[in-house]
Amino acid sequence: MAKSYDAVVIGAGPNGLAAAIVLAQAGRSVLVREANDAVGGSCRSAELTLPGFIHDICSTVQALAVASPFLRSLPLAEHGLELVFPKAPYAHPLDDGTAAVAYRSLEETAATLGRDGEAWKQLYGPLVRDWEKLVPELLGPFNPFPKHPLAMARFGLMALRSARGLAHTWFDGDPAKALFAGVAAHSILPLDSMATSAFGLVLGTSAHAAGWPVAKGGSQKLADALASLLRSLGGDIELNARVESLDELPPAKAILCDVTARQLLKLAGSRLPEGYRKHLQAFRYGPGVHKVDWALSEPIPWKAAACRDAGTLHLGGTFDELAASEQAPWEQRYAEKPYVLLVQYPFDASRAPAGKQTAWAYCHVPHGGDLDVTDRIEQQVERFAPGFKDTIVARHVMGPAAMERHNANLIGGDITGGANMLSQIFTRPAPRMNPYKTPVKGLYLCSASTPPGGGVHGMSGYHAAKTALREVLR
Ligand SMILES: Cc1cc2nc3c(=O)[nH]c(=O)nc-3n(C[C@H](O)[C@H](O)[C@H](O)COP(=O)(O)OP(=O)(O)OC[C@H]3O[C@@H](n4cnc5c(N)ncnc54)[C@H](O)[C@@H]3O)c2cc1C
Repeated sequence: MAKSYDAVVIGAGPNGLAAAIVLAQAGRSVLVREANDAVGGSCRSAELTLPGFIHDICSTVQALAVASPFLRSLPLAEHGLELVFPKAPYAHPLDDGTAAVAYRSLEETAATLGRDGEAWKQLYGPLVRDWEKLVPELLGPFNPFPKHPLAMARFGLMALRSARGLAHTWFDGDPAKALFAGVAAHSILPLDSMATSAFGLVLGTSAHAAGWPVAKGGSQKLADALASLLRSLGGDIELNARVESLDELPPAKAILCDVTARQLLKLAGSRLPEGYRKHLQAFRYGPGVHKVDWALSEPIPWKAAACRDAGTLHLGGTFDELAASEQAPWEQRYAEKPYVLLVQYPFDASRAPAGKQTAWAYCHVPHGGDLDVTDRIEQQVERFAPGFKDTIVARHVMGPAAMERHNANLIGGDITGGANMLSQIFTRPAPRMNPYKTPVKGLYLCSASTPPGGGVHGMSGYHAAKTALREVLR
């Protein structure tokens, strides 16, 4: 007879593992079933190009992991995780050979922004000060009664605006507008959309308040640390164990699904009532990504020397150029000069043989789009780092279809478990008092298709597991 568990978690992404850890910490028996041959979901690493060159297949910047109240509470260093921080979280090179740079320090950042330096400090200063008050609310479900209503109201008033509206009210010059556009464009939304400034504010504040580290040796180290902690608490993990239907699971009081809305429909089938099924069917996925990993002979030769200090680079020029690029995939078009999000690791020598480098970049493309835009991405890097192409020793390319083959949650190449529009960011995957609960007793959704959405923070898993503990695992 199959062993029974208090809970079974489907999927060993950061949220699935976080959910399982919460349950195991509470003394419940838990099994995680993972389709792939390794844990981590979109938090994995591999030698994608050449031996000795370690690439993060998906997520790499652990800004939300260091912000996450739950992940921060875990003894992950004891399980092999070491975080390394670049001097500057992100930078934005411009065509004149200069760069706007977001350093940890607001003063240093302001010094790169000319006449807008003071405005940057005024925008982010209060948010950095309030960060610890804001973060539990920002990384959780919508809460009409926040613990710090004033701080939340101050944030909310600005966050509801479009990135364009906010940037053009606060800043005069191209560098600050572009720096803000680059960080707001992590929303994967047109920059004229309501609430896109929220992404620029949250991620921008996290850069100053906590930094944007990477896991030394690759993101897999973070996933492996979570799995190691889970096993130390008595949790079981089965790999190569794709779940096709809930009916095949061992007996359990709670089932937590680290899958996206559409997959939940398939897994749970007719167990879900009609109204909820309709919401899942209507759930919208966003654009995909086209990603390139490079093995490089040397660090990227940025024209603006300050770019060498940064972990993340936002490439594409001015606010208007980025806005045009981010509009395109929503109209099923490919930007000629895409907004490119690039991560380099000169500050983590463990990822490549001595003297060599790895780097990673993607741009947003239409959902499921199959055009190979590698040249356009490399051209954008070359624009701000002449000679870059000569440093490429090998490359590995993944478009939306390859992304989805790697991880079934990356539907059409959507990397955030569903589009981030205001209409579904708080209510994902369906408007419910508790978004982690399905209408079926004991069945929960714990993936990025629930608040707070995409990112390696584990908070969806945390909230779903806490709900299960309150409801069926008391
Ligand atoms: C290219 C890319 C770059 C990114 N960059 C960053 C970044 O730098 N920083 C950041 O914070 N976030 C980043 N993200 C987003 C982040 O990785 C995800 O939002 C996060 O991993 C979501 O975690 P999750 O646990 O909800 O799901 P996932 O990480 O997607 O994990 C889901 C797991 O469930 C498994 N699974 C699915 N279906 C089944 C099934 N039927 N049976 C068994 N197992 C199943 C999958 O194999 C997978 O292991 C990036 C994502 C991508 C793709």
